[in-house]
Amino acid sequence: MTLLSSFKSLRLEGVSRDFGVVNALRDLTLEIKRGEFVALLGPSGCGKSTALNCIAGLLPTTRGQIMLDDRRIDTLPTEDRGFGMVFQNYALFPHMTVRNNIGFGLKMRGIPKNEAAPRVEEAIRTVRLDTQAHKLPGQLSGGQQQRVAIARAIAIDPPLVLMDEPLSNLDAKLRLEMRQEIRRIHQSLGCITIYVTHDQDEALSLADRIVVLRDGAIRQVGAPEDLYARPAHLDVAEFMGFRNRINGRVQARDGNRVQLTVAGTTLDGVVQEALTGDTAIAAVRPDDMVPVAPDAHGIDTVVEAIEYRGRDFFGQARSKTGDELFFRSEQRLAPGAAVRLGAEPHRVLVYPGA
Ligand code: ATP
Repeated sequence: MTLLSSFKSLRLEGVSRDFGVVNALRDLTLEIKRGEFVALLGPSGCGKSTALNCIAGLLPTTRGQIMLDDRRIDTLPTEDRGFGMVFQNYALFPHMTVRNNIGFGLKMRGIPKNEAAPRVEEAIRTVRLDTQAHKLPGQLSGGQQQRVAIARAIAIDPPLVLMDEPLSNLDAKLRLEMRQEIRRIHQSLGCITIYVTHDQDEALSLADRIVVLRDGAIRQVGAPEDLYARPAHLDVAEFMGFRNRINGRVQARDGNRVQLTVAGTTLDGVVQEALTGDTAIAAVRPDDMVPVAPDAHGIDTVVEAIEYRGRDFFGQARSKTGDELFFRSEQRLAPGAAVRLGAEPHRVLVYPGA
């Protein structure tokens, strides 16, 4: 049985998965449209792989349902879902040539040779392995082996391609190259790709939409640009590189613009999540935090360390309230120097305090 190739969307409706007392997935509800590339992003243990495995059928769900258009698929066995899967370890058969590895899924599905052969050749061309197809996996580089795994996944013409950290075993340069390849392959297929990663750069560069998970639940869903600029919660902000967190009190507010008092000085920011009390936490990226004039709005700190990084310096400082802050500087400041650090107000994201 093959699933409709003309499907419009995949829907997770209240999908949960428990392992004993651990709620690995909590009530995941999400619609993914055909053609979309979605990244599941989050720290280790947040439930990314569990979500992927439930969609793939490798794990049963505890509650909820998974629909491909109007068809319920979470009750179908893995092989009947017909999804392409790519994992961190390529799991290729070492004694089979690239061509045979790629054709294996079609053979298992009983597709006749004359129908399978052109599909295998097309998959080989899509991943650009034309000149390597006669080789054994052991004769290929890590990147090439991962391409074989991708070709094997796409040869069956799947409605969904599921990838679980497929680039983690590759070196940094290959990872970058393969990102481009994966994006290109996804576009040429027009299917849905769901890509699990804990690497925010990978998610930002690959996905049309990012789903941030934490403790098994969705924290935020959005386009990469939205997530990067406007994380909805402090933990998402921290995950997206807003490494500085500054504790303050709300001093004045006008719409979503807010002034915080931090140890007697003022910091201007933008409210991201409804403030419930008068304490707040500001989150700022190190690259947006810079030394400012002593009479400008900002936070008084003492420099603890500074290092040269080519075009500028990267510094570490401590505020009067004990917050550790990272900043960028045009000048080499001496450890022990007093410096006021500030940022453009729209770069200072404000969340409710503890
Ligand atoms: P990582 O990035 O480390 O792979 P992840 O985000 O993919 O993490 P999952 O592997 O989905 O996270 O795990 C989610 C939670 O479910 C964790 O608390 C994990 O310990 C638990 N878990 C996962 N698989 C099992 C299992 N087979 N039995 C018991 N608990 C499990």
